[in-house]
Amino acid sequence: MLGPHGGTHLLTGSSEYDAVVIGGGFFGCSLALGLSRFLGRVLVVEKEPELLQRASHSNQARVHNGYHYPRSLLTALRSRVNFDRFVGDYAECVVDGFDKYYAIATTFSHVTAEQFRTFCSRIGAPLEPAPRDVRALFNPALIEDVFRVREIAFDAVKLRQRTWRDLRAAGLEVRLNTEAVKLQARADELIEVSLQDKGAGDQVVARYVFNCTYARLNPVLANSNLPTLPLKYELTEMALVDMPAPLKDFGVTVMCGPFFSAMPFPSRGLHTLSHVRYTPHNYWFDGTDGCRIDAHHYLVNNLPDTRFEYMIRDASRYMPALRDARHMDSLWEVKTVLPASEVDDSRPILFRWGHGLKNLVCVMGGKIDNIYDVLQEIDLLRGRGELS
Ligand SMILES: Cc1cc2nc3c(=O)[nH]c(=O)nc-3n(C[C@H](O)[C@H](O)[C@H](O)COP(=O)(O)OP(=O)(O)OC[C@H]3O[C@@H](n4cnc5c(N)ncnc54)[C@H](O)[C@@H]3O)c2cc1C
Repeated sequence: MLGPHGGTHLLTGSSEYDAVVIGGGFFGCSLALGLSRFLGRVLVVEKEPELLQRASHSNQARVHNGYHYPRSLLTALRSRVNFDRFVGDYAECVVDGFDKYYAIATTFSHVTAEQFRTFCSRIGAPLEPAPRDVRALFNPALIEDVFRVREIAFDAVKLRQRTWRDLRAAGLEVRLNTEAVKLQARADELIEVSLQDKGAGDQVVARYVFNCTYARLNPVLANSNLPTLPLKYELTEMALVDMPAPLKDFGVTVMCGPFFSAMPFPSRGLHTLSHVRYTPHNYWFDGTDGCRIDAHHYLVNNLPDTRFEYMIRDASRYMPALRDARHMDSLWEVKTVLPASEVDDSRPILFRWGHGLKNLVCVMGGKIDNIYDVLQEIDLLRGRGELS
């Protein structure tokens, strides 16, 4: 039987799906859209009342173009490739009406200005010396050099609206306020997914299940007696600030170590201010032997006091004009990274096919444009006939 998009559609019952995608963030929704090109019924379940409300909203909104990763050439090169694609595919969601600068710190930086220049030329990332009036904004005792780069921001709310439009156009089913709590293999090789919807439970079954829950990849695995994934979690704060007049159309990242970054956050008309030392308030790890902490519950129950004052005090040593930035709010989220990223700050994707159960796939991207790396894995599996 053919599904609405021409793919093989094996299941017909109302609670039977070709694929269930757990997690309605940018990764889950984009993956569901990719699957709907060749699978019949695809369902997205999201525990929050809205899509793209967690990490896909509360992040620094930077569309990476390689500059951020001088310690991981592979991540830098993938960012370069994905940048143009993302900007082309999501043109109405990106904002580039600001100048972006990378400044290199004189001390405690993992790179010198010369090394940064060489690195950018190696990855083909455009770089030019900052104009004199911009250099004058930096403290010359602490900043070795300043470069103008091509890096832009995305609008998380526009990305959500665009995602809804795409999901509707593709005829995908979405269940909000619905948490996937447990997975169980059936004798017929389908996977049963137990759902909780405002306290009431029900089940759906699927040929494939994709776990795209980012900071909550492990609770559903642990509940299902499946091995958990080794992950590092950071409870993060990004301050939302109103920038002083000379810095309104300005983004800046100080490289490469315990410094700060200020990027426009278009959906609020403000900037995010993050600081390598102060943005992570707390961190913990999971291994393969269970889920120690449910990240979302932890965040709700352990919201710390803001560290904006620490961030701005340090940042304004490098850029004195930042002293007049006004703290309006903070974005809080649990950042989740692979432990390997600790070493070189790389952002590979996690893509575990057949994790504990045949046809269960665990997926996580360390940055928004990693979605193309995920879709590439799907194409490879399709090419090998493992996903059809
Ligand atoms: C502080 C911070 C700054 C960042 N800065 C950038 C940046 O500047 N640029 C960049 O490209 N990337 C950045 N990232 C990374 C980026 O945000 C993530 O890679 C991306 O948003 C992950 O998308 P996702 O869909 O996997 O996660 P999410 O958007 O978190 O989606 C996962 C969804 O799963 C849902 N869920 C969880 N458990 C269940 C369940 N059991 N049942 C149903 N639903 C469930 C959650 O509610 C959530 O909506 C940053 C991340 C953080 C935290």
